[in-house]
Amino acid sequence: MTTTAPDPAAPLVFDTAVLGRTSGTTMHVAREIAAPEAYGLEVYAVQRSSVIDLDLHLTAVSEGVLADAEVEAVAEGECARCLAPVQDTLKVHVQELYAYEGSVTDATTDADEIMRLDGDLLDLEPAVRDALVLAMPVTPLCRPDCPGLCADCGVPWDDLPEDHGHEIVDPRWAGLEKLRLADTDGESK
Ligand SMILES: [Zn+2]
Ligand SMILES: [Zn+2]
Repeated sequence: MTTTAPDPAAPLVFDTAVLGRTSGTTMHVAREIAAPEAYGLEVYAVQRSSVIDLDLHLTAVSEGVLADAEVEAVAEGECARCLAPVQDTLKVHVQELYAYEGSVTDATTDADEIMRLDGDLLDLEPAVRDALVLAMPVTPLCRPDCPGLCADCGVPWDDLPEDHGHEIVDPRWAGLEKLRLADTDGESK
């Protein structure tokens, strides 16, 4: 059940020993941390080492420690339609119970349902990562009505004149068109 033990030095691992397992005791952590890894996809993510703004309250309850956090981070990527750079500020709320080892909750639930404390260490990273990834748009856009790229020439519509189009026949083909018409005329006579 236990995977790798949380690293006490990791930016999203908190030592809850000060709470003394006394219900109602609370601690507040407000800090900026560097994202330990990139969260998201290659085309759109909270980049590794970018700033994550964390405002965390940890409260001891009978079964464990309740984490309640406001998390703010900037996600960067490219617009799915026009490939222009996109930057969004994601704000998420994380609320998660971390059960004490040996508690009733520990004995009666799965670790993938309810998180666990590792000794006194609380690893908030998976919850923060999941919340940020869930808050990401399925289709990142530079703006909601981004017109995308011209399907014929691949130039962003924003950079093209309003009357841009490709229906005008190439002059060389226009020449052939005339010849073909002349030829047909000749045959009909
Ligand atoms: Zn766009
Ligand atoms: Zn075009």
